[in-house]
Amino acid sequence: MKGIAALSLMAALLVLPVASPSQKGGFAEIKQLQSPQNPKLGFMIHGGAGVIPKGSLSPEREREYKAKLEEAVLAGYKLLQAGKPGLDAVEAAIRILEDSPLFNAGKGAVFTNDGKNELDASIMNGKTLAAGAVAGLRHVKNPITLARAVMERSPHVMMVGEGAEKFAKEQNIDLVDEKYFWTQARWDALQLVIKEEEQQKAKANEPTKPSVAELPARSLPENRFGTVGAVALDKFGDLAAGTSTGGMTNKRYGRVGDAPIIGAGTYANNDSCAVSATGWGEFFIRLGVARDIGALMEYRAMPIQAAADLVIKQKLQKLGGDGGIIAIDKFGNMAISFNSDGMYRAYIGPDGKPVVEIYAQ
Ligand code: ASP
Repeated sequence: MKGIAALSLMAALLVLPVASPSQKGGFAEIKQLQSPQNPKLGFMIHGGAGVIPKGSLSPEREREYKAKLEEAVLAGYKLLQAGKPGLDAVEAAIRILEDSPLFNAGKGAVFTNDGKNELDASIMNGKTLAAGAVAGLRHVKNPITLARAVMERSPHVMMVGEGAEKFAKEQNIDLVDEKYFWTQARWDALQLVIKEEEQQKAKANEPTKPSVAELPARSLPENRFGTVGAVALDKFGDLAAGTSTGGMTNKRYGRVGDAPIIGAGTYANNDSCAVSATGWGEFFIRLGVARDIGALMEYRAMPIQAAADLVIKQKLQKLGGDGGIIAIDKFGNMAISFNSDGMYRAYIGPDGKPVVEIYAQ
């Protein structure tokens, strides 16, 4: 009986749909990524996925992005090496990226249609399945820290808007004036998208769906996605994941994306993997992307890269969404998968050194 079960499992695995190595974003990287330097530690971060054609960034801009990603991945990894929990590494790396205007999180967040910044973030503990999420923040300097406070110092999983900010104040978490989040590049991006949206409306003579208005913005270098996230495996064998974002340029007031939705933009479970996502949030919510990858590993025994590619390159692709994920499992196997042209990402390679990448290989 057992033999038959094993045979049918093998047969099932053989027919599992997996992405071909020629597809963009990561599958070809399996070999490199699945040989961890130390199965007890692993750390990866991302700085968003989007339209990043090779050569579109000036060499100086590219250096700036890479330097910041390297700083963040090393900061998190050092904490893991010092024996700190993965949650500390995730929070520390994300805070560095939130404080940089290069990324669409914290300072550098994109603008809503009415010219505000509304920030979302979440974090999850793979050992206990405790999670914290915040959305629609306008004054919290580091949303990831508030998400962690919700997880660890409140009985709730998710808090939004004014209530979340009231809680931040009670917890002595840094609040800033709305002006702190204002950056010229993101403001210009909003003006451009609004103009293009109006032109489209005039052309079609019918209301344009807000999400469609994102398309022109995303084709410009400065308007790429820039959500940030991190996943960690610590020396206790525990997984953690976190994600932080300003959302999407020109989103309507009150819109919440996938980043703070546990199971969509963030998920961590020691039984499967830790995932942080970036991309067109509505699609990631509909598919429950982060949890779906974990479920494929849990219920279909899929390896991490195959699970990630199935969800991103087949399911997300088919639905018309774009973006990508970083993921790590309890053995330290890492996966990167995206169906966009590029994804800002960094991880600690098999030799213990940081690897920083932007474009599809
Ligand atoms: N996923 C984010 C959102 O939809 C955006 C991004 O990742 O760039 O809010």
